[in-house]
Amino acid sequence: MKLLDGKATAAAIREELKQAVDQRKKEGKKIPHLVAILVGNDGGSLTYVNAKVKACEEIGFESTLIHYDEDISEQELLNKILELNEDDNIDGFIVQLPLPKHIDELKITLAINPLKDVDGFHPENLGKMMLNLPGFLPATPAGILELMKRNGIETEGKDCVVIGRSNIVGMPLSVMLSRNTPTGNCTVTLTHSRTKKLKEKVLNADIVIAAIGKPGFVTADMVKEGAIVIDVGTTRVPDSSKKRGWALKGDVDFENVAPKCAYITPVPGGVGPMTIASLMINTLRSMELRRK
Ligand code: NAP
Repeated sequence: MKLLDGKATAAAIREELKQAVDQRKKEGKKIPHLVAILVGNDGGSLTYVNAKVKACEEIGFESTLIHYDEDISEQELLNKILELNEDDNIDGFIVQLPLPKHIDELKITLAINPLKDVDGFHPENLGKMMLNLPGFLPATPAGILELMKRNGIETEGKDCVVIGRSNIVGMPLSVMLSRNTPTGNCTVTLTHSRTKKLKEKVLNADIVIAAIGKPGFVTADMVKEGAIVIDVGTTRVPDSSKKRGWALKGDVDFENVAPKCAYITPVPGGVGPMTIASLMINTLRSMELRRK
């Protein structure tokens, strides 16, 4: 079994991006500026946004965190998005999800200029992804493909089961793995809560990707020997042995599944850091596309 070390792979990507930024600085060119908007004080969202800002600092990107109270109105948030869309100094921005219930997430996503949509959530970017046209790929699926590529995993011809069909992970990932690209050409089965005989399907898979948010859902009896297992799940579960009182758990029963796998991602330290690395790649690209 080989561990797919997302932490180390993401660190290597950050180093490459840092060199690209240093080169731009030497040439007197603008450096990328990423803005992250956070609404409310959800612990998980705060952690993710802070990690994104930290990655920017490490690479040498400019970053701005805009933190609103939970009760900000939808219109106020939309106004800020329109302002960022027009601000030539801002190369990309993200609105950390989930948003409070009184704010329509789709409306917010649709308001973002697709050319600055470095999370790759706007329908224009998702449509381009479907047609294999240049655009911004959603950060988590792109990070997963990059992690496999950099660890020498061939996807061509493999049978892949994706568990979970969210708009940000499972659905786009199933498309990206199916496309005729060097990191695609899989035969993909996209599964969800209404899927019948899930275990049977997963047992046949060369690559299993779990993105459901149910700790330990994928057990050893569901996975064939030599499979590649990617665990996207990140659920906080109570853990009194930790000072903070919780631990992050993936969707895969790592301890029992790992011995059967050719490759497996840990949680934490697998997909999470790769998601942030993809966001950084998209931000540099956003700036380069608009400024050359
Ligand atoms: P989500 O919106 O929470 O949706 C969960 C998906 O799982 C749904 O499609 C649901 O099916 C499916 N599902 C639930 N129970 C199932 C079952 N028993 N069998 C098969 N499918 C089942 O998904 P998400 O936003 O992608 O999040 C999933 C997990 O990934 C969460 O733990 C989240 O925190 C984590 N995540 C991690 C990263 C990262 O960077 N590491 C990024 C994004 C998300 P239905 O559609 O039928 O309801």
